[in-house]
Amino acid sequence: PLVLGIETSCDETGVGLVRGTTLLADVVASSVDEHARFGGVVPEIASRAHLEAMVPTLRRACDEAGVTLADVDAVAVTAGPGLAGALLVGVGAAKALAWALDVPLYGVNHLDAHVAVCALDGGPLPTPCGALLVSGGHTSLLHVVDVASDVRLLGETVDDAAGEAFDKTARLLGLPYPGGPAIGAAALEGDPTAIAFPRGLTAARDLERHRFDFSFSGLKTAVARWVRACEAQGRPVPVADVAASFQEAVCDVLTRKAVDACRTHGLEHLLLGGGVSANGRLRELLAERCAEAGIALRVPRPRLSTDNGAMVAALGAHVVAAGLPPSPRTLGGDPSLPVGRVLVGA
Ligand code: ATP
Ligand code: MG
Ligand code: FE
Repeated sequence: PLVLGIETSCDETGVGLVRGTTLLADVVASSVDEHARFGGVVPEIASRAHLEAMVPTLRRACDEAGVTLADVDAVAVTAGPGLAGALLVGVGAAKALAWALDVPLYGVNHLDAHVAVCALDGGPLPTPCGALLVSGGHTSLLHVVDVASDVRLLGETVDDAAGEAFDKTARLLGLPYPGGPAIGAAALEGDPTAIAFPRGLTAARDLERHRFDFSFSGLKTAVARWVRACEAQGRPVPVADVAASFQEAVCDVLTRKAVDACRTHGLEHLLLGGGVSANGRLRELLAERCAEAGIALRVPRPRLSTDNGAMVAALGAHVVAAGLPPSPRTLGGDPSLPVGRVLVGA
């Protein structure tokens, strides 16, 4: 079946078309430039941009795949988590299409879609497996038994998400928004061992209760203190070294805990998903540590790591293949949909 996926949880309007694990189209319109001068996503601007971009993005996706809307067999849409007004636009569009085309509607979880997208690069998911989800709003370790129906949360951040830490640290360093790519680029010129930044929740006493949890707010504070100290001493901030050392601290903790989670739960495969998985050092260090531990790692191409409609279509295709009942046509968005609720049912 041909599955159409719609994504509008944040500032990307994404439409994807997928058949099984084959990607046919992936078109993304982003309003990121409109938010840059505010240093973060402005919800009202994002919602309006989704409204304007929705129909042209749908058209472009159909053109790219060489299909028409009449060929679509099922519509999947991000039902949450995300910005309430932004979700509303995608859910509204998906409901209208499902009614008009008389096809089933599936309201799915954006976070599980970040994981399911791995099927588009390398074929069917090697479940059961572990998944490290690192994005702008979430940082979680998952045990994926079946991506359509059984995703278990092993641990998550107790404060900032990894992407949020990248964005806030970039701001402290005077780097542009979004901070992830900017830090990644600055770090290429820096020494990752220049500054020993803290590794949150890795001390023996923390591991008892928070073995698979993360904390990045202490790291952000440590960077802020470092920058202030430079300013107080009238020295220029060594931006590249701070960026590289910060990035190393984040990647060290993420990869250590992901490998530990797989070992502890007897999982031989690990998936990496979410916007921060576009980070080169994270990919490199995770590949290295997985190889040492005998864990097979699957990482989507960077374009599929950040928000897009293809990931929603990919999860929709899993849900359709599993024969699960569609969502009601009264579907609404849920800004705080938990990762364990893959599909919003009746
Ligand atoms: P969520 O998925 O939790 O709802 P989101 O959809 O806003 O949040 P994503 O689009 O998955 O998040 O990821 C965006 C985040 O990824 C931003 O914080 C951004 O800084 C970060 N990011 C993007 N590219 C990179 C990179 N190359 N290195 C590090 N971080 C990156
Ligand atoms: Mg975005
Ligand atoms: Fe996302």
